[in-house]
Amino acid sequence: MPFLEENLLEERKSPTSKTSKTTYLLFISISISLLLFTASPPPKSTYHSLYVSVSESENVTVSHHLLILTRRPHVAGSPANADAASYVLSTLTSHSLRTHISSYHVALNYPLSRSLTLTRAHPLGPTITFSLDQEIYAGDPYADVAREAVPTFHAYARSGSVAGNVAYVNYGRVEDYATLKGMGVNVSGTVVLVRYGKIYRGDIVRNAYEAGAVGVVVYTDTKDYGGGVDGKWFPEDRWMPPSGVQVGSLYIGAGDPTTPGWASTSACERMDDEEIERGGGIPLIPSLPVSSADGEAIMEAIGGHVAPDDWQGGAESIDYRVGPGPGFLNLTYNGNQTITTIQNVFGVIEGVEEPDRYVLLGNHRDAWTFGAVDPNSGTATLLEVARRLEKLQKRGWKPRRTIILCNWDAEEYGLIGSTEWVEENREMLASRVVAYLNVDCAVSGAGFHVSSTPQLDKLLKQATQQVQDPDNSSQTVYESWIQSNDSQMVGRLGGGGSDFASFIQHVGVPAVDMFYGGEYAVYHSLYDDFVWMQKFGDPMFHRHVAVASIWGLVALKLADDEFLPFDYVSYASELQRSTKELENEILGKPISLSPLYKSIEQLNKAATKINDQRKALEGNGWASMWGKDPLKVRELNDRLMMAERAFTDRDGLFGRPWYKHLIYGPSNHNDYGSKSFPGVDDAIEKAKSSNTTESWKSVQHEVWRVSRAVTHASLVLNGKFT
Ligand SMILES: [Zn+2]
Repeated sequence: MPFLEENLLEERKSPTSKTSKTTYLLFISISISLLLFTASPPPKSTYHSLYVSVSESENVTVSHHLLILTRRPHVAGSPANADAASYVLSTLTSHSLRTHISSYHVALNYPLSRSLTLTRAHPLGPTITFSLDQEIYAGDPYADVAREAVPTFHAYARSGSVAGNVAYVNYGRVEDYATLKGMGVNVSGTVVLVRYGKIYRGDIVRNAYEAGAVGVVVYTDTKDYGGGVDGKWFPEDRWMPPSGVQVGSLYIGAGDPTTPGWASTSACERMDDEEIERGGGIPLIPSLPVSSADGEAIMEAIGGHVAPDDWQGGAESIDYRVGPGPGFLNLTYNGNQTITTIQNVFGVIEGVEEPDRYVLLGNHRDAWTFGAVDPNSGTATLLEVARRLEKLQKRGWKPRRTIILCNWDAEEYGLIGSTEWVEENREMLASRVVAYLNVDCAVSGAGFHVSSTPQLDKLLKQATQQVQDPDNSSQTVYESWIQSNDSQMVGRLGGGGSDFASFIQHVGVPAVDMFYGGEYAVYHSLYDDFVWMQKFGDPMFHRHVAVASIWGLVALKLADDEFLPFDYVSYASELQRSTKELENEILGKPISLSPLYKSIEQLNKAATKINDQRKALEGNGWASMWGKDPLKVRELNDRLMMAERAFTDRDGLFGRPWYKHLIYGPSNHNDYGSKSFPGVDDAIEKAKSSNTTESWKSVQHEVWRVSRAVTHASLVLNGKFT
């Protein structure tokens, strides 16, 4: 800014020595623009630098927010979670944001009764009735409120009582059942024992049902989650205690299962149980999650063939066998489904120049237990973002576009709060949202990770170059990031893991999801509390501060930059890479990928062209000083914003119409799995098993559908109809 002012002053001096009319007019004009410049605040980049220049106390503020948010267990629909909503609302209000709550009435369920008994063959001893309780350790500061936590269960589990010999099926993947079949083991009529780890738990139960099992017990193996090996676990170490249980949802899909595709308002249409069952997202056999101690006790009672080497778990004294039997399980689960009120909290800073363009930052608030990692490390960080934005506002900053901070409810049950809101506001969001930036678990350990739609790759790299690594002050987050990841730095958003799903996969909004750490042992257990975070997740809370810096900075650039910082050239090269991967899948089959390659080439051309148009419009010298035609800027930005929407298709994925995005969506066999071209992938899976001409034809059809979507994106970027 000082540089610009000096230049203008220099130029103002020169016309005074000349007398021609044109020079005089020029002088007047420059004087006016100088007046405008001196009256206007510093450039946006100055504010962005101010935003990331953190002082000593940020970590204290963030840890204080986390301490308050995690005082009690606060599952969706509980009074404790309503209190947490009030805390978020009042904190956002205190930071000068315009706030409101938007409520929905959604079908949630809670456990009424659970029981699990194991009958063992002689000489192992008598029947065991498992307590299904997570132990409170001596000195636990949360001992008095721990009983408020919802008993261990699977949300949306099927109610009922089942009994059968127990069989062990490793991670419960489709290929694990194939292995068992190859060993001559029939799981039909059994209760299967499965370890958590590789796939979404909803898919674990679905695969078990499809294999003919009557019930499912899912346990935490110490090999996958550590702990117990040397007798050290929380609170001595970061690992899950032997009685720790991973709670979680089984729902395959997004949003309230009783209102697929529309908002769960107080008096809306709802599907009945039969219709929901036909929808396929709800499990059809009972299940329970159990601890590593209980899992091992059951494992000991299983005979039969010794399980393959890579099926062996962490209990060294046990030979993992596949059964079925002689161990016999009786499992009962009864749940209570009720329509419950949930609350999304919003804080808004209205944009000055383009109030009808939105940049969204989102995080959920509801937790299975205390939620120190999942999700309130993110909530505490969101509140820190709000504090820093207030600091900027006090110095005169006003965003060009509207910034909206979103705090979702009932994410854990099935991304419900965010999905209901997106379904209710779909058309408005589709025409106005620039990007959605998600943070779920902000911090569970060291190491920065981010996933996004590819047009945002460059922006993410730039932002991380401006933030100091919280674990190594001699370098930036970016530098540490490139050292830790060799091949692909930015992940993609195909999985259904968090609240970004409805934005990208249902509406086609460019999206980001970021976090520090990754998998952590006490996930969804009673031990995900403030003590764990303070001891193991982020003792100094500097990683929280770094997430606040990156998250907010990305939002600021999206909200303030005159031209949206989107680069579709990187989208095209990413699609090229994904298509190459597809080639191996269809080797020797009558499938042509050339329509797809052709459409990607067009996209690359269109992306390059719009980048050039932007450069021309940015111009230099006088053109930029006199300002650009705001309508032209807006028109170009709209093309950049809307190109992502073109990847969505009205009919959606085959058999999964809610998932509209043809590039990124969850895999059919693992909701956590991130697949490019999920429709093509589904069709290939089917064709591989049936191997009919018809089935391979449908693969080709899916390839054509993706190609057409990519072509539509090019047309949007070009901004010219045919
Ligand atoms: Zn979460």
